[in-house]
Amino acid sequence: MAPTYIVLLGPPGAGKGTQAKRIAQKLELVHVSTGDLFRENLKNETELGQLAQQYMNKGELVPDDVTVRMVEERLSRPDCKEGAVMDGFPRTAAQAKAFDELLKKFDSAVKVVPYIKVPDEVLVERLSGRWMSQSGRVYHEKYNPPTVKWIDDIDGSPLYQREDDKPETVRHRIDVYNEQTAPLIDYYRNQGLLVEIDGTQPIEDVTEDIMQAVKEA
Ligand code: ADP
Ligand code: ADP
Repeated sequence: MAPTYIVLLGPPGAGKGTQAKRIAQKLELVHVSTGDLFRENLKNETELGQLAQQYMNKGELVPDDVTVRMVEERLSRPDCKEGAVMDGFPRTAAQAKAFDELLKKFDSAVKVVPYIKVPDEVLVERLSGRWMSQSGRVYHEKYNPPTVKWIDDIDGSPLYQREDDKPETVRHRIDVYNEQTAPLIDYYRNQGLLVEIDGTQPIEDVTEDIMQAVKEA
């Protein structure tokens, strides 16, 4: 069977990372987050990490060519042979087109695009209370707190706040999203792939709606 690719679309703080982890587990697919991949490169001080850092700290997008190459490398690994839940990619029209071409090489195509809708004013509050684990698990001090403050429930490692989750950078990231990523809503709607999901619901209900959208696709 052709591999399955699901693209989670939505502004920063909509809940893509949170949902991608849950959906990937249920569907036994790999969760591919370009943000997590860049942060891993940053931690390991690779050349790609150093390049990406300049953009990430300012809340700008990393250039398309490097991003697409990184995704191609990731999706070519054996653990992705059944497909992947894409979180944070594609983020520009050029990336979306390159992704379509890449999936053709894998004899596949995007299956469905759940678009997690959350109003702007909620996003800043979500991101300023976001606590992350090294492995990319996501918590919120109020909405999804870990059992012990600042400690990951699963592996006991310390949680941290992202440098780019400061309110000034967050507001810029939302502008960048509106300019460069929001046009993908129409791109996927025109292909009949878009399903709107109410992202203001509790985490479990959002997951249920996304699973329903995947089943019906
Ligand atoms: P994204 O990957 O789209 O930037 P995240 O999954 O990292 O979003 O979520 C952003 C923040 O909002 C995190 O702190 C997360 O715990 C919290 N969050 C995610 N989904 C919900 C929800 N449905 N209700 C309340 N808070 C949420
Ligand atoms: P968010 O919580 O906003 O969804 P991510 O963790 O997905 O944040 O991304 C963090 C940063 O990594 C972005 O602000 C950007 O600098 C970079 N990045 C992630 N994905 C992409 C992408 N597809 N294209 C370009 N830059 C990206």
